[in-house]
Amino acid sequence: MVELPCGRFRGLSFLQSVHSLSLGLLSKHTAHGASRRAIILTPPADSPVTAASFTPEVINNLNRLLKSDVKSDVILTHASVEGNGICIAAPRVPFPAEIAFVLKHVRRIFPSPNIPIGHSPITSTSYLKIVDIPHVPASSKEWALKQHKAFMSALNKSPVGVSLAKLIKHKPRFMRASPHSDSCWAWVDIHDTVAGSNARLYISKFVSIGGTNCQIKGARPHSGSVHCARCQHWGHHSDQCRAKCARCSLCSGPHTEANHFKYVDAKRADVRQCANCTAAKRPADKRSHSSTDSKVCPFWKNRFDRAWLKCQFPARSTSGVQ
Ligand SMILES: [Zn+2]
Ligand SMILES: [Zn+2]
Ligand SMILES: [Zn+2]
Repeated sequence: MVELPCGRFRGLSFLQSVHSLSLGLLSKHTAHGASRRAIILTPPADSPVTAASFTPEVINNLNRLLKSDVKSDVILTHASVEGNGICIAAPRVPFPAEIAFVLKHVRRIFPSPNIPIGHSPITSTSYLKIVDIPHVPASSKEWALKQHKAFMSALNKSPVGVSLAKLIKHKPRFMRASPHSDSCWAWVDIHDTVAGSNARLYISKFVSIGGTNCQIKGARPHSGSVHCARCQHWGHHSDQCRAKCARCSLCSGPHTEANHFKYVDAKRADVRQCANCTAAKRPADKRSHSSTDSKVCPFWKNRFDRAWLKCQFPARSTSGVQ
């Protein structure tokens, strides 16, 4: 398996199974990002503590304490920058007690006078789908919008739906059950606990939408769409990636995002080029975004549309969706 800087890795099913095993239960509709195989520390704004403060000596020291004081088998490997925080990577998802222990010692090693170093809590995503939703007739341009409106207003009126709506992570996605069907499905991704307890609360319950009882079902993580954090293509996990080398999500160059500023000339460091739009031979002015730019890149917009993804790449290209 390819190791990438944390926060960029989205190999969900693997992590999910690792974590489920460590918890002794299996919630197959819940997934944890790579950042979950880590402890994310959040130093206060004025803190001089950075990822670089976590030298091998500091990390070894924490590992020694973890082993001797709380009999933990977790071995922290390295620290890297994650947003405004510091990501300390671990080979598995640390337990809350392990996180609290590490945090205690980090605060001891790096005392900060006012606000102590914090950590961002573990959250996961659960994937649900709601079936038999009455299809809202509308032109193809307006349909997604109108369907979404009708769905959300029904959800907010339903006793089950109103609390579910509060957990929704991003805009649900709708798909007609078949081209001429009078019903459609909604894929709903929700915030969840690591154990997936929210999903369990909702699976097999009903919400009334437009007079129809629509059942909530568990969905497979990212059903229909997977993004490879290694080569940036859609359609496979990075642990199944067959690309020769990693592609930078910022410039599509042959390096990881973490090394972008090391390998790219300072003058060109701010130039963005999408790996997918480039491979798809889109016009030069339509490539100038990062491949993880969800607002601009058409690959993001169509990421659930396997048929669309398949026909984006020139016929003989081997760099397409696997
Ligand atoms: Zn790949
Ligand atoms: Zn780059
Ligand atoms: Zn793009």
